[in-house]
Amino acid sequence: MKLKNDKNCGWINDLPKRTNIKTILKNEICDFLVVGAGYTGLSAARKLGQIHPNQKIILVDAQLAGEGASGRNSGYLVDTTLNDGFTSNKDLENYKRKTDIYELGINALKRFIKEYQVDCEWNETGKYFASSRMEDKKILKNFSEILSKLGFKYEILNNTELTKRLGTSFYNIALFTKGGILLHPCKLVRAMIDALPSNVQLFENSPLIKWSNNNNIISCYFENGIVKTQKIIFATNGFLKSLGIKSNYNFPLTLTASMTRSLTDQEFNSIGKPKEWGVLPVRPMGATIRMTNDRRILIRNTAEVYNPFQMSQSELNKRTIKQRIGIKKRFPHLPDDIIQSSWSGIVSRSRNSSQIFEKIDKNIFVAGCYNGSGIGVGTLFGEQIAIKMSNDNTKEIEIIEARKKPNLLPPKPFLNLGVKARLMYERFRAKSEI
Ligand SMILES: Cc1cc2nc3c(=O)[nH]c(=O)nc-3n(C[C@H](O)[C@H](O)[C@H](O)COP(=O)(O)OP(=O)(O)OC[C@H]3O[C@@H](n4cnc5c(N)ncnc54)[C@H](O)[C@@H]3O)c2cc1C
Repeated sequence: MKLKNDKNCGWINDLPKRTNIKTILKNEICDFLVVGAGYTGLSAARKLGQIHPNQKIILVDAQLAGEGASGRNSGYLVDTTLNDGFTSNKDLENYKRKTDIYELGINALKRFIKEYQVDCEWNETGKYFASSRMEDKKILKNFSEILSKLGFKYEILNNTELTKRLGTSFYNIALFTKGGILLHPCKLVRAMIDALPSNVQLFENSPLIKWSNNNNIISCYFENGIVKTQKIIFATNGFLKSLGIKSNYNFPLTLTASMTRSLTDQEFNSIGKPKEWGVLPVRPMGATIRMTNDRRILIRNTAEVYNPFQMSQSELNKRTIKQRIGIKKRFPHLPDDIIQSSWSGIVSRSRNSSQIFEKIDKNIFVAGCYNGSGIGVGTLFGEQIAIKMSNDNTKEIEIIEARKKPNLLPPKPFLNLGVKARLMYERFRAKSEI
């Protein structure tokens, strides 16, 4: 398996290059091995390091730590999401379980940020579920009823109010929820790298190639060495399937995003100097679009089944064109050439939007599959899987495990055909919102 991140991500390129990168060059022995150094793996390794100060923990990543989806997402830390159908009280109960987990994720991150005094441009802006189509009012009305039942605060806004707040007259209807935080995803994940305790050794550019489990020793094979461990956590999210982990329950999706340069004073004034905001689509395949606090516009309007490990520059350029059109639709007066960076990243999806948090065998644990909302939940699941692995229990683990597990996926080729057909249908339904 060849995994190669593009080097274009605007968030990552905002920050200085990391130095002192270590790779696996010889055989190693440890008590705990964590595979994957995104929010999940970093949080798991940090927690293991704290719980077991005298034991050796190794954390590995196929590329640079934090430069997968964790460093290159859109930075919405959500308390609610819209893209589920709800018709009955049972659905309401399921939705509540989901939002309970989101809340725990936000709290886990708040604790981390406070304890380590992290600057990740945390901004409690709330968020908009917005659409240009008045027909979508019905979806938002149903959603508002669910939010009311669960005690979430929200407002329904019309075009005039949205134009004032967002600086674009594109949207005709939106539901604004007070909960929801915007942040700089790469600053957050870098802080997690900096916070690793001294008994955690980080090895990067070291892809796990294969592994085996014999007589309670797990052997993990890398290009230049074997790591033998007592216990292992798989935290590779979009790459779980390629390692054969829970492969009948999750599949990878590739997302692409683009970010503009900062708007000039004149451009910013021309759209009414809006405060930082984040919009999520009402239809699943519509665009997520955000105005950052330094006046950049970020847009993500693709999600697709793609060779999950690498997107060529020419393919990426095609996505950039879509994103340029998306920005133009919303901000017709801004120049055409303001996109500064475009990148892709890989997430993990399940059929029923449930996450994976499990002991899959003796001493083998897995956390992941956040269905595109993994900033808070990844942090939470990483910490809690480390606690579970240490044979402890918490109220968080009980809440996580009370949620339904992911459903079995159809076998290939039906899976690929089914996912592609579904995405095509959703893309068609969201045509005006891309
Ligand atoms: C464009 C985009 C926008 C998104 N927007 C949002 C958003 O606004 N809000 C939100 O909450 N979420 C968002 N997400 C999803 C979010 O980024 C993920 O859910 C989250 O980063 C998952 O964290 P993780 O640590 O589990 O996985 P990752 O960050 O994917 O980390 C997994 C790591 O495993 C490593 N790995 C893979 N295979 C191997 C191997 N064989 N050996 C060693 N290491 C390996 C990878 O290199 C990677 O670093 C978005 C994702 C993308 C791509």
